[in-house]
Amino acid sequence: MSKSIKEPTPVATGRILALTNHLKESLNPADDIQKAKMSAPYKFQGWMALDKDAAKGNMVWQEYEPKTWTDDDVDIKITHCGICGSDIHTLRSGWGQADYPCCVGHEITGTAVKVGKNVKQIKLGDRIGVGAQSASCLECEQCLNNEEHYCVKGMIGTYNSKYADGSKTYAHFTVKIPDGLTNAEAAPMLCGGVTVWKPLKENGAGPGKRVGIIGLGGLGHFGVLWAKALGCDEVVVISRSDAKKADAMKMGATGFIATQDKGWAKKNTRTLDLIVSTVSSPNMPIDDYFKLLRAHGQFIQVGAPEDVLPSLNILAMISKGCKMGGSLIGSPADISEMLQFAADKNISPYIQERPMSDANQAVIDMENGEARYRYVLVNEKHVKELKASL
Ligand SMILES: [Zn+2]
Ligand SMILES: [Zn+2]
Repeated sequence: MSKSIKEPTPVATGRILALTNHLKESLNPADDIQKAKMSAPYKFQGWMALDKDAAKGNMVWQEYEPKTWTDDDVDIKITHCGICGSDIHTLRSGWGQADYPCCVGHEITGTAVKVGKNVKQIKLGDRIGVGAQSASCLECEQCLNNEEHYCVKGMIGTYNSKYADGSKTYAHFTVKIPDGLTNAEAAPMLCGGVTVWKPLKENGAGPGKRVGIIGLGGLGHFGVLWAKALGCDEVVVISRSDAKKADAMKMGATGFIATQDKGWAKKNTRTLDLIVSTVSSPNMPIDDYFKLLRAHGQFIQVGAPEDVLPSLNILAMISKGCKMGGSLIGSPADISEMLQFAADKNISPYIQERPMSDANQAVIDMENGEARYRYVLVNEKHVKELKASL
């Protein structure tokens, strides 16, 4: 599987440039050999969803046409791709009708095998990744404020979206993977990781803060790892049962609340400053979650529902001066910051690697809640070929 990436316009390039350092053409003849090997002709193939039954393990491996190549593009020879909940929402048209045929997957890592001449921040052979966003206008107030993910004109997703020229996108917004992180480790951070990283950072997670993470899945497990590494005083996992308690404590949680225990909300009332909710259900006990907040506490929802959230008693927030909000992924700058943080702090996500050929079964297993805590598909053929080309 390989994807075509449109390189950010100069606004974004400038920012990513500050984080990378590969402007100089190499004079080493060995590089020319590597270039030749990497630029061998290739076709784009992927697990394609043809209709909403794809979510039941019916994706089809076939060729597809990526967006038209330009000198602003990068092609990635994909080695790894995490499976995110949004992939499944999209496969089954849960967030609205998907644009089939659709190649989901947006926690992508691999090697740059073709780099357009306008691209400054990536060089051939770099280990790079791309997350959930592939384009934005790069001119609006939000884009100019490092918030491309909140672009006024709308963000274009890495899958199930179209570029302005009408061609379907399969990727964009590349970031370099720092030394100290493998492709497998970095992949699930590109969407799952940053989705939780951003609201924690933005809302002051760190020393002096008591943080709660609702749901210990792909997103929630990152919440625990990040909050712990950021130095929060308390990191409390809120889950339905005790089943994942041992894992949570291993990840660094200092407390665990099982909502099937009677009186859990009362017992833990006013104990948390910041709650990040990674779950979404019309039945979630949102009023009880609010009880956990201390005065001036914040409740940030990142789990995006296919349905609606339950009606809520806002008095619980009014009476303590609390705030409720939402958060969506993060910008390329956020992703780069997070990856570097993970490398510096030696943080490894809890992942299960599975062969790319196993994608259909992995989607089914993920939907059944069996992932501990993120499936990462491995394109073993590409891993081998890339090793051989070095
Ligand atoms: Zn914009
Ligand atoms: Zn995602």
